[in-house]
Amino acid sequence: MRNSDSKNAILPILLVFVMTLIVTACSEDTGEPEGTPEVRLERPSILLVTVDTTRADRLGIETDMIDTPHLKALAERGMYFDQAYSVTPTTLPSHTSMLTGLYPADHRVRENGRVVDKDLDLLQALLKARGYATAAFVSGFPLASQFGLSRGFDHYDDAFVSDAAERSAGATTGLALDWLEGKTDPHFMWVHYFDPHEPYEPPEPFLSQYPGNPYLGEIAYMDQQLGRLVLAFETQNQGRPWKIIVVGDHGEGLGEHGETLHGNLLYQGTMRVPLIVAGSGIVTGVSQQAVSVRQVFDTVLEWSGESRAGGLFGEETEPVLAEALKPYMQYGWQPQFMAVLDGIKVISSGDTEIYDVRIDPGETHNLDSEVEPDPVLWDAIEAYSNRALAEQTQKQQALSQEALDKLASLGYVGVSGSSRIRDDAPNPRDMAHLFHDMDIGAGLFIRQDYAAAIPVFIRILEADPYNFMAALRLAVAYSVTDEAIQAQKFFDRAKAIDASSIDLHHYQAMHYMKNEQWDLAQPLFESVLAESPDRLPALAGLAQAYTRQGEIKKAIGQLEKIVRIKDSPGLEWARIGQLRMTLHDTKGAIRAFEAARKMLGDQFTFHLELGILYMADKRLNESAISLDRVSSQHPAYATALFKRAQASVLLGEADRENRVRQAWLKADKTTRPMFENERLFQGMQFR
Ligand SMILES: [Zn+2]
Repeated sequence: MRNSDSKNAILPILLVFVMTLIVTACSEDTGEPEGTPEVRLERPSILLVTVDTTRADRLGIETDMIDTPHLKALAERGMYFDQAYSVTPTTLPSHTSMLTGLYPADHRVRENGRVVDKDLDLLQALLKARGYATAAFVSGFPLASQFGLSRGFDHYDDAFVSDAAERSAGATTGLALDWLEGKTDPHFMWVHYFDPHEPYEPPEPFLSQYPGNPYLGEIAYMDQQLGRLVLAFETQNQGRPWKIIVVGDHGEGLGEHGETLHGNLLYQGTMRVPLIVAGSGIVTGVSQQAVSVRQVFDTVLEWSGESRAGGLFGEETEPVLAEALKPYMQYGWQPQFMAVLDGIKVISSGDTEIYDVRIDPGETHNLDSEVEPDPVLWDAIEAYSNRALAEQTQKQQALSQEALDKLASLGYVGVSGSSRIRDDAPNPRDMAHLFHDMDIGAGLFIRQDYAAAIPVFIRILEADPYNFMAALRLAVAYSVTDEAIQAQKFFDRAKAIDASSIDLHHYQAMHYMKNEQWDLAQPLFESVLAESPDRLPALAGLAQAYTRQGEIKKAIGQLEKIVRIKDSPGLEWARIGQLRMTLHDTKGAIRAFEAARKMLGDQFTFHLELGILYMADKRLNESAISLDRVSSQHPAYATALFKRAQASVLLGEADRENRVRQAWLKADKTTRPMFENERLFQGMQFR
């Protein structure tokens, strides 16, 4: 301790010394007279708070139906942006826009469950390079570090993901406050609150304070925790400059326009978000200018000392854009884009809607036939939609089943659909009556309640006959419930809608595998892997198809790909061991089983195989040890005793005759004849 303490004490002195050298050297180089170097303006510490699923019109700032004293106080001390818009009503893409300054078409993260490209500049990495300490505390699984937004943070706290899909604002705030303690140098801290996301389960007293409206209870609870956070941040930075920015990632439909949650439509409930900026040098007031959450990036960078255009306080007024492509990507419905400028909002989704959202925030009166909006809006939408539809979404990453389950538990079902506009593509707005069935069906499907899912998907297909997702899921549900003819019928339906979908190939291959049609399954798995080489269930399926067709070496090849990408692939190593045994590859089989034993520990059940292999490889001590580990419950326990007796004789153990006798007494119809011809046992009295 003492040692490192003294090192830490020396470091600042060294730095001052080095700085002095630099200053001296500079003034000598320039030939200017020595003097006090120019005092640089101190850079502010910055707190970014993102509030998930929080509607702007459900804060105490805009309505009396809820009390949010901390957010209200912050808005009164700073700038409140009345027309702030999300870029897309989904958590990961929206946050990616805040941290890259890019729209989804440009950062290419269109859905939860995707991974942010490594070549994108992230806000925190740029701040870190400018000397900021950086930390993030997130509360919902869509922002887990595995999805790539952790890059550039000194500390990224998503510790809850090991056992839950979300974390409460109280827990997250506690961790953030711990990190903040003692920080004096400029720091950038991002805190994400997830509480208002469904399920709505506020703690007391908020549950009782908002009877019948637990969504508001969650927001009120979050506000309380945000109050703690803001107070601690300001206290920690007393006497130094600081800035706070609070912003929503998207809102919640709450039944408006037929949408209960978020993600399917582009109306104000899910798209207009809270945005408050407060702190040193921030003017107070309310801004009516339309702004985008992506402008957080330029705003914060500018605060750090980098000259940027495009921040929230900039002069530029260009249309604010957004997309909602989930119905397009998953069901083949019309892609949806929007642009807002000066209170006029245009939604393009096969047809056009125009609203004056300042006087008609509920978007009840479509002005399409009455007004001609600024052509700038049209041009912006056209340019964006061309870019968005040309730039295909990222390839699906290989998510673990656990990760898929966690996303599903939050209502996200990330199976990619067909990604093309159907010939009959309906407008998502007109299909809102199906959102409920879609959510119910997807939930049942993910929970593997296939029998209950079947009638739901039948209902959806009756209303929307070319719904690829519904056809595919119905086929899978029939396959799993052993209705092979119905399954084939709906696989054919899905194929008629989009024959190129790799999800279709994957599930149809699984169906053929279930029915032991290995020759049909094999090429489908191969086509899936050609496009998505890390897809684990396809690798496993292809390995099995090869095995069952006698192509053992090819099967081993697939399993070896799995062990390279999967965490602790003990069972796959054991499978490789078994297959190498069938090829009489003794040493290869031993290596595979040893790897399996190491990973599986007490769960390893191949001690008999390994014992036999060691004996074949003349490693008698290891053979004896392995065979001693075979459980007496093992179906081939008699064989283990016989082999152990052989090892005992070969090793010359003192109790070898007793070993042989025990093996004889427990012999079964497999091992009994083996005693007759076993020369090792000749001359022994064991019968
Ligand atoms: Zn969200």
